[in-house]
Amino acid sequence: MKKLLMACLLLVPALCVLAQQTPVSHFDGSSWWAHVKFLADDSLEGRDTGSDGLRKAQAYAVEQFKKAGLEPAGADGFYQPVSLLQFELDESKSSLALVKNGERKPLSFADDAYFSTRSTRESVKLTAPMVFVGYGLKIPEKNLDELAGLDLKGKIVVYLAGSPADIPTALASHYQTAGERWKSLRAAGAIGVIAVLNPASMDIPWSRISLNRNHPSMDLAGEEFNETRGLQFGVIFNPASAESLFTGSGHTFAEIAALGKDRKPLPHFALAQSLQAEAVVLTEKVESANLVGKLPGSDPALKDEYVVLSAHIDHIGIGAPINGDKIYNGAMDDGSGSALVMDMAASLQAHPEKLRRSVIFLLVTAEEKGLLGSKYFAAHPTVPAKSIVADINVDMFLPIVPLKILKIEGLEESDLGSNAAKIAQSMGIKPIADPEPLRNAFIRSDQYSFIKKGVPAVKIDVGFELGTPEQKIFKEWLTNSYHAPSDDVNQPVDLQSAATYEEFTRRLLIETANDPARPHWKSDSFFRRYAAD
Ligand SMILES: [Zn+2]
Repeated sequence: MKKLLMACLLLVPALCVLAQQTPVSHFDGSSWWAHVKFLADDSLEGRDTGSDGLRKAQAYAVEQFKKAGLEPAGADGFYQPVSLLQFELDESKSSLALVKNGERKPLSFADDAYFSTRSTRESVKLTAPMVFVGYGLKIPEKNLDELAGLDLKGKIVVYLAGSPADIPTALASHYQTAGERWKSLRAAGAIGVIAVLNPASMDIPWSRISLNRNHPSMDLAGEEFNETRGLQFGVIFNPASAESLFTGSGHTFAEIAALGKDRKPLPHFALAQSLQAEAVVLTEKVESANLVGKLPGSDPALKDEYVVLSAHIDHIGIGAPINGDKIYNGAMDDGSGSALVMDMAASLQAHPEKLRRSVIFLLVTAEEKGLLGSKYFAAHPTVPAKSIVADINVDMFLPIVPLKILKIEGLEESDLGSNAAKIAQSMGIKPIADPEPLRNAFIRSDQYSFIKKGVPAVKIDVGFELGTPEQKIFKEWLTNSYHAPSDDVNQPVDLQSAATYEEFTRRLLIETANDPARPHWKSDSFFRRYAAD
């Protein structure tokens, strides 16, 4: 660096300006932004799974894949069909109420609590006693069993979203997935769940959550994918109304929330009231697809191994209007990642790199419905499962501030994480682990579908440090724009930041494809268990 500076002063000032900038980049943000603009246009109506808007987006992506010279690697050309079931609540015929000694206190869907159709798959009518189970977690690795000694047979369990502080992030995230949590609750005999949102970790305010509560949910068709067998219904509870649940129990929600804020252990006790639940659920079949393109590797020994670069091309479609706008465009979520996948394919054509392994460019459907497209691909990959060596997932990487820090989800879990950190450092970017573990981000996007199949994965975003002005910018973005109509192309985006992020991703992709050894989970990583066989 010093030498370079000297040369700068003495010799060729114009060249030095270039040399001192961020490393040479194959990107300038403009082609990326053009793809984002197409995907987030109002005419695509928010790319809801199963919609014409999503089909248009997919036709455009296939066009880009072809232009970039990718080989089709789906089941039907670039397409891998995915069959889904859709669940929609008929609210006019449904109700929730707290009941004590025959006295019935109705709950308001808009203000107090609503049925989650993700966990309410069939119409149901029942009244049952409730038990508060803390965070509702059973984590054998940490000798935590919040269900021990409680009689949960035929009961509805109430839990606070979150986990105790002494549980490592990855472990906590894993056990908080609906399927994992339900396993132990089901074994204990529970029949329904009420999740009280944790005021300390809500990305989106209740008013906005409640606004879209009746948006239909989906799951993959086929029993192999049903993770909540035996669960009769699930309810999401507004923490601002949660005091009513605890009436007569000897505890208050204020006390629970105060403990939950610092992730302290929570008490467990029977509640004094029962819940009366009646849900009328309508079911429908939906057809969608993932898109799979392949760039073949050149090494005779390694070309049958694959590095996956993934993003989700779906978003949440049309919803309740906010400020008169009802189209949830999903420019950053995940138009930004889908655009990157297309842009990366084009960049590898324009500036070819001899890749030893093959690369799969994967644009999945139904991420917003619960990581469904990626779950389907991971269960039925179009290349042999064992040949997938890594997943680099790009979802809402948020180039809304200059790129000085990269937040690497999965940083400490695998070689892929540590290689990503090294590449960031080599570019003068500071790599950090997730500074907000309570958001459970490592299990909240498509990389998790690969992780569960044993494949090392990362999701990497433009980052910030706690207590900085940047943290405020991100917090405000989540509060106002995440899953809102304002996540559109009218928001300010830093194209240089996006370009540098793309360059970083290109290097990670190339290094992973060319590394003689495939990435491994760290010996102390929790997620290593999935790679056991
Ligand atoms: Zn997303």
